[in-house]
Amino acid sequence: MEKDQIDFLKNLINTPSPSGFEEKVQQVFLERIRDRVDQCYKDVHGNAFGVVNPEGKVKVMLAGHCDEIGMMVEYINDQGYIYFSTVGGIDAHILPGKRVLVHTSKGAIPGVIGKKPIHLLEEKDRQKVAKIEEQWVDIGAQSKEEALKQVTVGDPITFDAGFEPLLGGRVAGKGFDDKVGTFIVGEVLRCLEKDKLHCAVYGVSTVQEELGLRGAKTSAFGIAPDIGIAIDVTFASDCPDIDKRKVGEIALGKGPVISRGPNINPRLWQRMVNIAKEGGIPYQVQAESRATGTDANVIQITREGVVTGLIGIPNRYMHTPGEIVDLEDLEHAIKLLVRFLQSLEGNEEWIP
Ligand SMILES: [Zn+2]
Repeated sequence: MEKDQIDFLKNLINTPSPSGFEEKVQQVFLERIRDRVDQCYKDVHGNAFGVVNPEGKVKVMLAGHCDEIGMMVEYINDQGYIYFSTVGGIDAHILPGKRVLVHTSKGAIPGVIGKKPIHLLEEKDRQKVAKIEEQWVDIGAQSKEEALKQVTVGDPITFDAGFEPLLGGRVAGKGFDDKVGTFIVGEVLRCLEKDKLHCAVYGVSTVQEELGLRGAKTSAFGIAPDIGIAIDVTFASDCPDIDKRKVGEIALGKGPVISRGPNINPRLWQRMVNIAKEGGIPYQVQAESRATGTDANVIQITREGVVTGLIGIPNRYMHTPGEIVDLEDLEHAIKLLVRFLQSLEGNEEWIP
């Protein structure tokens, strides 16, 4: 992967964007694509769009959600400890002892999620997980008053975990779910050559996916696409405790996942598989026997229905501050999507 691409991905990861607070990360996305697209804009919901070849015969929407899970300041007690609510699927197991950042109007301030030392825990409490409302953020303030000089109720909180290269082209970080999707949408837009396209491409960095696919719903309605493809992370099962009997056989580095099931148009699925085969692009298939928990779900049932696809990036430890993906899977997903878009003539039959 090129250095400017790594920098873009790093920048997306390091820019906090819990659902509802995506403004800054959308700037990162729009700056990256601005000079390579015909139009770029945002809507009132906060979705960011880049359009290539708007006069194309069919409209294709690509969606990657830029929001990440996080927390929000709910209540500050008299001692200055901050109680919080969760934004998206936060696992109470992993919070104690974590470093966090509270994003205030004066900038980000560090804090720690507090926890009673193991020595002082009753035997029965060692087996238990503290509920979210029993956990707090300690920013070092000594009173409510002192805390309120910096922090406002409703300020977002994120994990303080950066982007770290690991062995073998793998990287660790928070929020790969689904900033890799936004990354891939941005890079696909940058790769497209207008004279090779018959379709119009609307690349969207969607918001508020973690709260129920909300940005994909509004943006798909606005675009009214013929074809919509969501790009999101999916569970890798090549680590110790993920049951292949439940999620299939998906490994890091073996290529993007072309999901198959009722949420996916079968003709589009077949075409994606053919394009991967013809192009020598590695790919994996995951069976999704119901509506997926991704933007593809709402895109498919927009208006009178949309030809829908879903590309997954294998991800370990989803919704923790230590997610892991393989950069090669991202590169192969970009290649696959660019080839797919270039292959469209605008006269394809998609009705199953
Ligand atoms: Zn998620």
